[in-house]
This record gives sequence, C-alpha cells and structure tokens, in this order.
Amino acid sequence: MKGLIFNAKRQPEWAEINNSPLNERQVEIKVVMSGICGTDLAVLRGKEDAPSGIIRGHEAVGTIIALGSSVSGLYIVQRVVIDPNQYCGDCPACRSGATHLCQGADGHGLAIAGVNRHGTFAARFRCDARFVYPLSDTLSWEAGVLIEPLACVWNVVHRAGLIAGEQVLLLGSGPMSLVAQLLLRQLGIATLATECNAGRRDVARRLGLACCAPEALPAEPTFSAVIDTVGNQLELASRQLRRGGRIVLFGFDDGYRYAFPAKQFLVNAWSIIGCGEYNQDFNQAISLAQSLPDLSSLVTHKFNLDDYAHAFELLSQNSHDCIKVVLVS
Ligand SMILES: [Zn+2]
Ligand SMILES: [Zn+2]
Repeated sequence: MKGLIFNAKRQPEWAEINNSPLNERQVEIKVVMSGICGTDLAVLRGKEDAPSGIIRGHEAVGTIIALGSSVSGLYIVQRVVIDPNQYCGDCPACRSGATHLCQGADGHGLAIAGVNRHGTFAARFRCDARFVYPLSDTLSWEAGVLIEPLACVWNVVHRAGLIAGEQVLLLGSGPMSLVAQLLLRQLGIATLATECNAGRRDVARRLGLACCAPEALPAEPTFSAVIDTVGNQLELASRQLRRGGRIVLFGFDDGYRYAFPAKQFLVNAWSIIGCGEYNQDFNQAISLAQSLPDLSSLVTHKFNLDDYAHAFELLSQNSHDCIKVVLVS
C-alpha cells in the first residue's frame, strides 16, 4: 500500500509499505479524510524532528472495511474516528491510568500513528480496535476530523482547571486556537485571542470570537490564564497575566528559550502548566463536538491525497482564508 511519508530531507513523498495480515484485534479502515496538523508543517519548516519513512497523518475519519476475528462492537461500513495515541496498556504508566505517559511496548514512549507509527495519509489504515470510535451520523466527516484536535484542547481545559466565568487570553489564532476558542466559549469562558494576520482576525470575528492584533492588548494584566498556542510567547504571556494566574503551554517551537523569572512567578503566585498528550479523552471530545455547530466550518480546504503538494503549498502561503486543510483519500 502506498502512503505519504517525510523523507530524510523532511520532504513529503510516496512510499510503498507492506502490510502484514490483519491480526485478531485489529480493524482496517478506508480513510475518508485526514487533517494536516501544525506538527506536520513544523516538520516541513525544519522546526521539528520526525522519523523518516513513517506514513504521516493522525487526525482521521473513515469507514471500517475489515475486522479481526476477536473484534466485537464494531461493524463493516461503520463510520469511525481514529485515536492516534496508541498506548500499550501494559507498562507501569498505563497500569496507573496515565496512558498519555505510556513508556511503550518497546520502551520508546507512546506510539502515535502518523508521528512514530504509520498514520492515515493513505487509502487505508490499520490499528487495534480499541483506538477506533464510532462517529455518529449527526457529525459530519469535517467535524470528525477535528475530534483529535478537540481532545488536545479538552486536555488543556481540564489540566489547567479552566472554568466558567474566567477571562482567558490565547496567543495566536491558528486552527488549534480556533478550536480552543469555540470550546471555551461553549463552556462559558470569556476569550480574547491575538493574531498578526488581519485576514485571520476577520475569520475569528466572523465566528463571533474576540481577536485583536498583539499591539492592541490591554495595558493592564487582566487575564486569569494565558494559553500560548504559538510556542514562543511566554514573555508576552507573563505581561498579560493577573496575580494568581497560570500560563498554559500549547504550541511547539523547538528553538525557543525563555529566561525564567522565578521571583516574579513566586511573588505573583503564577504557575506554568505543560499539559502533554490527552489521556483517553476521545469519548469526551466526541460528545463536545456534538455541542459545537461551528466546528466543521474550520475545515476550509480539501485536496485529494494525490494532490498533497498543492495542499502543503497553500498552507505555506499563510493565506488568510485558509484554516484547516484536509486530505481526502
Ligand atoms: Zn494534530
Ligand atoms: Zn504503556
């Protein structure tokens, strides 16, 4: 089967992968749609490392086309969404319930489809049935493709303890931040987001979300929590944080370094929170998706998988009307 990998020069190309026979616990899925994630772009831009030769893609929906002999509760042609975080279930971390900290069956950490295991930028995908969730008919494929990002956002909400009535600032207003803003609004949390690109500010405003240029932020620190969705905004985050507030890390930038002002954190009773991967939050994310009617509108562009080069080219242009781009298998 052919799938889309990044080669040793971090460029996308096709590779032929030999599938072993489906084992008794596995499911085979015909991939319908697979989202391109910011982490895929970070690899292309040289901001993040990735093993070469792994089929990318980890935000996917599809239909079941084959079931292993011991799989129950799922059926052929069923619409499903895939959880890419494929914890072993057997290591000390998993046994303690912290599956997001899985040490991996091989000792190399959590297996993530599309990152360190073959993923969904392909016509078909196989995984253990426990990582396959039914997608109800009331959710579109487009909304389904955003369930994995929603699980990531939900993880931030509950690890940071964000609650109704708070005022939260999000630095950056890319696809993941917009998912977060929709969810926080639904939870009764007031948000303001920053965005340098004027066209993207308009996209947020059309969704009824408050968004401003970084220069237009209030002069006084007013926020009880600041979420850095860019990955290199901690100086700005601390200037906007009220006493007793928390900074939440939610963006990747390998090269970023922050001179930690320890005393400022101490006297202001600030905390800083790294949320890591979500821990079995997929059912929660699916039910949250049902409550967010605007979610599917974040998918602005679809390309055939064969046309991946145009999809990556569009994303590299940072165009203002482009939010979530998906590849259709
Ligand atoms: Zn992702
Ligand atoms: Zn484990």
